[in-house]
This record gives sequence, C-alpha cells and structure tokens, in this order.
Amino acid sequence: MSSDIVFIGLGHMGLPMALNLVKAGCQVSGHDLVAASVEQFAAGGGSTGQDLAAALGAAKVIITMLPASRHVEGAYLGASGILAQAAPGALLIDCSTIAPDAARKVAAAAREKGFTMLDAPVSGGTAGAAAGTLTFMVGGSDEGFALAKPYLEKMGKAIFHAGGNGSGQTVKVCNNMLLGILMIGTSEAIRLGMANGMDPKVLSEIMVKSSGRNWALEVYNPCPGVMENAPASKGYSGGFGVDLMLKDLGLAVENSLSTGSSVPLGALARNLYDIHSKSGAGGLDFSSIFKMLAKAE
Ligand code: NAD
Repeated sequence: MSSDIVFIGLGHMGLPMALNLVKAGCQVSGHDLVAASVEQFAAGGGSTGQDLAAALGAAKVIITMLPASRHVEGAYLGASGILAQAAPGALLIDCSTIAPDAARKVAAAAREKGFTMLDAPVSGGTAGAAAGTLTFMVGGSDEGFALAKPYLEKMGKAIFHAGGNGSGQTVKVCNNMLLGILMIGTSEAIRLGMANGMDPKVLSEIMVKSSGRNWALEVYNPCPGVMENAPASKGYSGGFGVDLMLKDLGLAVENSLSTGSSVPLGALARNLYDIHSKSGAGGLDFSSIFKMLAKAE
C-alpha cells in the first residue's frame, strides 16, 4: 500500500516525530540509512521496507529530518533525490536545522520544478518530539503553510509562520544563538555569586524575580542541585547536547558573515562551546558550560 507521507531521517528527533504522525492515523513510510532506526519505526507501527524511489513517487507529503545542510542538499538535489523522484504536487517539508542560505537554495530548486517547499525547523528537543509538543518555525508561502499546518500540528503544539523560504531557519538560528549566550551569562553570574560565598539556590531564586531573569534561571539552571529535574542535576545527561549547540552557533556565525551582521557575543559563545566540546564535553548537555567556568581547586 502506498503511504500519504514519506518521512526521511528517523534519528533522535525524526523517529518520535514520525511515530506521532502514525499515532494520529497517518500512513507513513519511514526511511533512514540506519537499519536499527527503521526497525524501531516498524515496531511503533510505521510502514517500512518500501523502495524509496517508489515511495517518493506515491507520497502526498515528504518530510525530512536530517543532520545538517549537506545532508538536506544531498537528499533533495541529488540525481536520484527527492526533487527527481517526487510526484507532481507533493508538499516538501524540511524540519532539519540548516543554514538559511541552504534552505533558500533547496526551496528555489523545488519551486523551479513546481513543488511547494517549506523549511520547518523545531524547538523543544527530544522530549518535545516524543510528547508532540514541538514548536515549529516555518518559512515558505502562505499556501504552503496552510497545507503543512495540519501535519505539523500532529507533531507540535505551536506552529509559527515566520515568513518566506529560509525564515524558519533564520528564527531558529537567532533563537539558539541567544540561548547559547544566555546560558553562558547565567553560568558566569552564578559562578561569581558562589565565589562570594552565595548559595546558588538563593542567588538563582532572587535573580529569577529580578531583571536578570531568563529561561535558564526559570527552567534549566546550569548549577547542579538547584533544580532537581534540570540536566545539571543529572550529570548533565539528556537535554540539548554541547555539539548540537556548537553546530547552531556555527550556523549563526556563518550567517553573520554572509549577511554582514555583527555577532560578537554569538562568535564568542561558539568559540567557548568549541573549546568545551574539544575538552571531551561534546555529548553533555549544553548547560555543562557551567563546569568550564569553575575556579581551579
Ligand atoms: P540524528 O543524527 O539523531 O538523526 C538524523 C538521522 O538522519 C540519522 O538517523 C541518520 O542516519 C539519518 N540520515 C542522514 N542522512 C540520511 C539520508 N540521506 N537518508 C536517510 N537518512 C539519513 O539527529 P537529530 O538529533 O534527530 O537531529 C535532526 C535535526 O534536528 C538536526 O538538524 C538537529 O540540529 C535538529 N534538532 C535537534 C534537536 C535535538 O535535541 N536532538 C533539537 C532541535 C533540532
């Protein structure tokens, strides 16, 4: 049986997202290079084993959730890629986090072949993907957004139309650059208070009700023991990895060069996360930058 949706990229994010589409009653054909991911999708009720070219040719909607720009460009623009195989009228939605320039390039190639394409990166991490509570930041035409919204609503709870193609990626890059910077700033402030003998819990409680208030202080305190459920209190496991933050800050710096924008703090944040990653912390949650700022014992 042919599926309405082809979902390519069943990784940490894509697998739970595709399974939420299945749970919502959609016919989804799942594809990944890693056999174990495809098996997990099948175990969750997804449809697998179809030849990709045939599945693409029959799908109404094609969704991709791939690691980075080069994977997305390869998947769409390759000689036997999505643009070469999809049926006329198929809606193309890329949910990966990639460079805005790459999103515009792929969307322009899609438009030339008569397809409607959207960039729809997400915020909310693996927990949001599993719970179906992701935030989608969508770039593309009004008509495309209207067509995609019913599908995105099965995977997320806040669906925003940011503007034309590439806008979703632009919002994602701006948001994550701000997040990277504020996590470092929050870590510095708590470290400074602790160096003065402050209890980090008391300090955080006061700052969260004062003008330094921010998302890290509210729900994601980087100091172990301040918030029971934050990654910091669980050995910095789970959450959003240092290497993923490093990737997103790299996109911000790359974009600042192509647009001639000044991002001095974004560039500094990227360099700090780069050093942190190279010290072996790449797999830890990004709030572990707090550890890098520790005073020598
Ligand atoms: P992941 O590496 O776990 O998954 C990517 C999957 O794509 C892998 O299973 C890989 O095998 C597959 N893949 C790569 N090339 C392929 C191809 N040509 N055909 C089929 N499958 C292919 O990554 P992830 O954590 O799921 O992240 C996916 C995207 O979402 C990234 O762009 C990431 O930046 C973004 N993102 C991740 C998070 C997070 O918390 N993990 C949060 C928000 C956004």
